[in-house]
Amino acid sequence: MSTAVSSHPSVAPGTQDRPLRIAVIGSGPAGVYAADMLTKSEAVRDGLVVSIDLFDRYPAPYGLIRYGVAPDHPRIKGIVNALYKVLDRGDIRFFGNVDYGTDLSLEDLQKHYDAVIFATGAIKDADLNIPGIELDGSYGGADFVSWYDGHPDVSREWPLTAKEIAVIGNGNVALDVARVLSKHADDLLVTEIPDNVYAGLKSSPVTDVHIFGRRGPAQVKFTPMELRELSHSKDVDIVLYEEDFDFDEASDAAVKSNNQVKTMVNTLTNWLAEQDDSEDAADPSTGASRRLHLHFLHNPVEITGADGKVTGIKFERTELDGTGNARGTGEFIDYPVQAVYRSVGYFGSALPDVEFDHQRGVVTNDGGRVLGADGTHVPGIYATGWIKRGPVGLIGSTKGDALETITHLLSDREELPLAVEAAPESVVELLDSRGVEFTTWEGWLELDAHEKALGAAASEGGPVQRERIKVVPREDMVAVSRGASVVS
Ligand code: NAP
Repeated sequence: MSTAVSSHPSVAPGTQDRPLRIAVIGSGPAGVYAADMLTKSEAVRDGLVVSIDLFDRYPAPYGLIRYGVAPDHPRIKGIVNALYKVLDRGDIRFFGNVDYGTDLSLEDLQKHYDAVIFATGAIKDADLNIPGIELDGSYGGADFVSWYDGHPDVSREWPLTAKEIAVIGNGNVALDVARVLSKHADDLLVTEIPDNVYAGLKSSPVTDVHIFGRRGPAQVKFTPMELRELSHSKDVDIVLYEEDFDFDEASDAAVKSNNQVKTMVNTLTNWLAEQDDSEDAADPSTGASRRLHLHFLHNPVEITGADGKVTGIKFERTELDGTGNARGTGEFIDYPVQAVYRSVGYFGSALPDVEFDHQRGVVTNDGGRVLGADGTHVPGIYATGWIKRGPVGLIGSTKGDALETITHLLSDREELPLAVEAAPESVVELLDSRGVEFTTWEGWLELDAHEKALGAAASEGGPVQRERIKVVPREDMVAVSRGASVVS
């Protein structure tokens, strides 16, 4: 039986004897930043004692950094290092392989914590409602990302049989998806891709990947570095189309006022100019075995198929309307493709017992204070990151978000409903009593070392240094981690 610490009114939480107990659900950047900021807050510097537990449904920490960032993305390591430093300090406990809603309910959390912060992010694809979207060969880009990032809950098989592929969307996920689809598998071996991903990509017969944006080159949602990265793939030509380069008043204004837009428009127009300068402008190919086509002003209207399988995609050509938005021209164009990936944004998933805005895919909240069905704040419940504001912005934007949420939490401190089982060991006892095979930070260090050792073993004697090979099956991740599970 756990040692219950009751919410005796004379015991103000936030002291050494009775710290303010906070649960953070989700150990991606949003959750880790919120936890870190709480520990460094002015209130804590002024003597408030907080005790934070970070939960994740996966056996490993880092959320979308581990399961959403492309493996060949150079900035991934910097972010992982920053998150590692926070969690390795030892003042925030990590509980992996604990599923909110299955292993722990909201009621359980309220019993054990004075406040709960949801930082569950978004991992599912937004819908694209066009005819044919259900055909075999039509995929969500985010699902493909989960596959190549070795997500434990997605199938280990991914059908890579298409020679020509369409990727819909002009955001960074579309770039990641298109880059990974078009890159040669051997050029990804230096990354942490699991073996099944390497084997799948290696067998791909792809020759042409087409990225389609519905607006113009000045309206892309890419970021400059990610766009430039496209040109670094070996044996892949970038192909652009003169007729897609249209700029309206709003485009000119965006180029003048926004350095990112200016840089990207320059990159694209320079690529187009280089292509026009090539010896045979009608066929700008350098002879690469794969091509990555960037199309603009194409609005998807239908995925066409035969025998239930994708055989093509139909677009309506669009034109800019002066405001940076696009309208249809009535001209339609078909492309023969055997696979379509939609990368039209992520969408958050509802959480049990928490009010959800199904239009926006976020937990209903006001500045991070989670609201109930009656529109008032549910005391002690907060949200941060993509599940709070929607899946937009780079990882850095999550910091400002976390600051707002924890500022609200700390200013509500006096009114928080106090946990009745606040002793840190009582939640461990609860998980144990339910047979939940949770993993810990020490367990993650074991798994981390194990994955690095797999990479080193695979590199031995070969020309490619593999820094890590991700373990994919959940039970294997848990087994390796639990070998060293110690809860302080
Ligand atoms: P995003 O940036 O919102 O881009 C979504 C794209 O889909 C936009 O081009 C949008 O066009 C298009 N779209 C939406 N609905 C459409 C429709 N019905 N038909 C055709 N196109 C449609 O979303 P994301 O790419 O999923 O990225 C999410 C966030 O993660 C972004 O902040 C992104 O920068 C970040 N991220 C960063 C990296 C990185 O490497 N730094 C990698 C991945 C993701 P409109 O603009 O016309 O709406």
